Amino acid sequence: MSDVIALGIDIGGTNVKVALVKADGDVIAQGSVPTAPERGPEIFVKAVADYARQLTRENEIEWATIVGAGVGMAAFLDVERGWVEESVNLHWRDVPIVELLEKALDKPVRIDNDANVAALGEAWLGAGRKAKTSLCITLGTGVGGGIVIDGHIHRGASTMAGEIGHIHVKNQGALCNCGHYGCLETLSSATAIVRAGKEAGLVGADGDLTAKDIFALAGQGNDVAQGVIDDMIYWLAVGLGVAANLLNPNVIVITGGVVNAGEALLKPLREAFAKEALIRVARVCEIVPAELGSEAGVLGAARLALQAVAS
Ligand SMILES: [Zn+2]
Repeated sequence: MSDVIALGIDIGGTNVKVALVKADGDVIAQGSVPTAPERGPEIFVKAVADYARQLTRENEIEWATIVGAGVGMAAFLDVERGWVEESVNLHWRDVPIVELLEKALDKPVRIDNDANVAALGEAWLGAGRKAKTSLCITLGTGVGGGIVIDGHIHRGASTMAGEIGHIHVKNQGALCNCGHYGCLETLSSATAIVRAGKEAGLVGADGDLTAKDIFALAGQGNDVAQGVIDDMIYWLAVGLGVAANLLNPNVIVITGGVVNAGEALLKPLREAFAKEALIRVARVCEIVPAELGSEAGVLGAARLALQAVAS
């Protein structure tokens, strides 16, 4: 299998990352092209396919050795049909993205949402690589989640498994993007703690406020900032406790910008989690930072393609 190479494609709001990845996870080459979704899916797909071919040529790789492509993107997808049902980022609706890419690349293409693909990447080569069951949670604009069991993404009946951000944790909480109230996302995303920080009167170093500023202020002994963080961690532990009691994971991998806070986040989170999850669940479950950073997307996407070939 060492000669087998897959394309990993990570479609972000600004750039599309493309990587050539060997079956052992070795990245031969990678680069990116602008997403420019306003040009429409057809032109978008052509630009990505042209770039993928260019990348293979530059690295003297025969196109025939590419076994397929995996794609990750932030969108509601019909994974079976290979359709983007809705991408809020790209303003696309009902796009047969897999069919378009398969035609342009002349290769089989698999797709999944960004959180699932990142979870697969971490489970393959990152912080979840020794785990039989892993839960990967992204703390960013929202709270995303992906479940990997025995090396494969667990998608559930309509590919909505792992939507941990919409676990209801707080009665009479704030309105969430999903239309419900009190979701974990409204309390523990980077967006949520910035909102809570602003409401509490915190101001960042350059006048604006970021999650990083709040952790920095707390580190300097600011009690208000510490209170915002304590709240965020408490609700995160409640949500993770629910998810962990259901999944009994070996590991919970935390990713997204907020995890740069390191032990200031993870140590109290582990302590709070131990009070929320069942003892027998908590004691086997490590909570660790992600290891692959922004690489998780292309690696997980490539893994999807490699798994499709192996199955
Ligand atoms: Zn929600």
